[in-house]
Amino acid sequence: MGFVPWRYVNSWYCNGCGLCCKEFEVVLTFHEWLKITKTFGAGVTRAGLNKFYMGKRSDGSCIFLYTAPDGKKLCGLQNNKPLACKVWPFKILNKPKYGGAKEAFFNYNGQDLFIYIDPFCPGIRWGPPSAELIYKVIPEFIEVASGIRQKQFYSTMRLTPGFYIFYKKGY
Ligand code: SF4
Ligand code: SF4
Repeated sequence: MGFVPWRYVNSWYCNGCGLCCKEFEVVLTFHEWLKITKTFGAGVTRAGLNKFYMGKRSDGSCIFLYTAPDGKKLCGLQNNKPLACKVWPFKILNKPKYGGAKEAFFNYNGQDLFIYIDPFCPGIRWGPPSAELIYKVIPEFIEVASGIRQKQFYSTMRLTPGFYIFYKKGY
């Protein structure tokens, strides 16, 4: 199934299933590759014909994917994850590349954009868009994609403060 315009989405919430970190190849920009290999060594990435990819374990999962004690999957890179991971499952485009231009259209601060979502993600609830999706989730994804925002809240799995402390302790 192809990408779906955002107007068919009621809400999106990452449930930490980690499926996206197993099913897809993460393409790295040269700068991301440089930063990751400088910190962790070249073994955590993979070189393709003319692209760099995030490395995978034998079960197909990303080398940085961890399982928390409650079963949720966590990214070991957190705020330093590649842009491809930060904006998934959304596609933020200047043109209606995947059709449904009217339903994909999104005006962000006077800028005409076309937003789609990958229906593979189980965090999608279908239906008329909620206020949170329109005013919080999508704008945050746009800001992350354009580089004006680094920290994610609505556009990633929402960790409770208690969980975050526990995660920081390195369990
Ligand atoms: S983005 Fe979607 S597929 Fe990936 S971990 Fe979250 S809910 Fe699962
Ligand atoms: S870098 Fe993080 S978010 Fe990206 S695929 Fe790996 S574990 Fe998932």
